[in-house]
This record gives sequence, structure tokens and C-alpha cells, in this order.
Amino acid sequence: MSKGILTDVTKCIGCLQCVSACKEVHHLEADEPRIWQKNDGLSAENWTSIITKPGNRFIRKQCRHCLEPACASVCPVGALHKTKIGAVVYDSSKCLGCRYCMMACPFGIPRYDWDKIVPHVEKCILCYDKIKDGEQPACTQACPQKATIFGERSELLKIAHQRIKENPGKYINKVWGEHEAGGTSVLYLSDIDLGFLSYPTNIGNKPLPDKTKTAMESVPFAFVGMGGVMLGLNWIIRRRMEFAKDENKKKDSADE
Ligand code: SF4
Ligand code: SF4
Ligand code: SF4
Repeated sequence: MSKGILTDVTKCIGCLQCVSACKEVHHLEADEPRIWQKNDGLSAENWTSIITKPGNRFIRKQCRHCLEPACASVCPVGALHKTKIGAVVYDSSKCLGCRYCMMACPFGIPRYDWDKIVPHVEKCILCYDKIKDGEQPACTQACPQKATIFGERSELLKIAHQRIKENPGKYINKVWGEHEAGGTSVLYLSDIDLGFLSYPTNIGNKPLPDKTKTAMESVPFAFVGMGGVMLGLNWIIRRRMEFAKDENKKKDSADE
């Protein structure tokens, strides 16, 4: 069964405990603001953030774990994939740093890790290891308001529709992520429009991989040529790092 998260914007008090819990469990370092960073709090060291909107509305941003992820469809080396349990995970050892996933994501989620010697992208992984072990993600566990909850996607959808039905006028009659871009595992209930979480603001209900794949393939140099160049560079950098490591080891044993 596929898992997911439901965030109810009307319950969130913006305490940031979900953000701190994510940083702690994934050993994410203090963030260094960059001038080119988007103004949404996400970065390679911040996999979730809280966006403040007028009227004390706080909206938690994280990877939506799309049912048909555009990021995975454009990755030339298969570094990202959708797991059966619902999480879209990535293998940083495969990542070329080409950033196609960043261009393809309709929610502006993956971020580049500028501080690594071999840079790659970072994003929320739905606490994949924890949920595989039958636990819940650190962020949902930390929320004191139960504003963001974890469960089966189908159950979360039922809960969301029930809340809308039982509280007439409280919510916009829509569960964000139920159908958008083919559906996502991270869902939202809200009393304000959450269109700003996607680019463009109205992305429609069709899965994006077909569109993005076709678009990337229609630029053969970008998709194949550049991918090959990046793969080659990545291999050279890794070989150099391994060589430097071996040299250091030799020096250390000579010093002993
Ligand atoms: S939100 Fe973006 S990064 Fe997350 S799974 Fe969907 S396309 Fe990929
Ligand atoms: S699900 Fe895990 S990785 Fe994703 S935002 Fe929550 S704590 Fe972070
Ligand atoms: S922990 Fe809960 S209430 Fe606090 S900011 Fe996160 S989602 Fe909102």
C-alpha cells in the first residue's frame, strides 16, 4: 500500500518543529543563504520549510512524491525512482549533477548542493528508511498540532474529504495532490489557494513525465550529448578523488 502525508493548512501554527525534526534525523547542516536561492526556505540542507502567507497562514513545503514523478522521468542515469511504498527516492552516488530534475519538477523541489566536491541534488525522501521499518516520518511525528499526518494515501484522502464535508465553509473544496499532475503522495487541505506551490500555478491533472520526457528528448544535445559529457566529468572527478585518497593512504603508511 502506498503511503503519504496530509497537511492541513488550517491547523498549522508555524512552529517549525517539523523543519527541525527533518534536519535532525537527516543530519542536515545549518543553511547558508545564497542570493540565487528561491525565497521558499528549501535548500540542499532544508528538505522542508514553512511559507508564511497573510492572515497567519503557514504552509509546509516538501517534495510531493508524485505518483508519476517528472523528476525521475528526465534523469538520464535513473538516480531518482518512485518506490512501491510511495516515496520518490534518489541515489546520490548515481547523480550527475545535471539538474534536469530541477527543471522538470512542477513544484520546484530538488535543490543543488553547492558545497559538495561532487555536487548533486537533494530533497525530501519521505523518510524512506523509517517508513520501511514501520515508523512514520520525523516531521509528522514532531508536529504538536497534528497539522501534518502520515498514513495510507487512500485513508488520508478519505480523512481530507470527511473534514471538508463535516466543516462546511471552512476549507476550499479541493484536496491538493489528489489529481494534480496525475496525483501526489503528499496532500493538502486548505482555506487559501495553494496554486502558488506549483509552477505554473495551474499544472492540470495529467501526469507530467510524457511531456517532460518529450521536451528533453527534443533537445538531443541537451539530453544525450550533455548527459554524456556530465557522466564523463563525473567519472573523472570520482577517479581523481579515489586516486587522492589512495595517495593519502600511502603517505600515511609511509609516515608510520
Ligand atoms: S515533487 Fe518534484 S521532486 Fe518531488 S517527486 Fe514530484 S517531480 Fe519529483
Ligand atoms: S518526510 Fe522525512 S525527509 Fe521528508 S520532510 Fe518529513 S522528515 Fe524530512
Ligand atoms: S510542526 Fe506542525 S504546526 Fe508546527 S510548523 Fe510543522 S506542520 Fe505546522
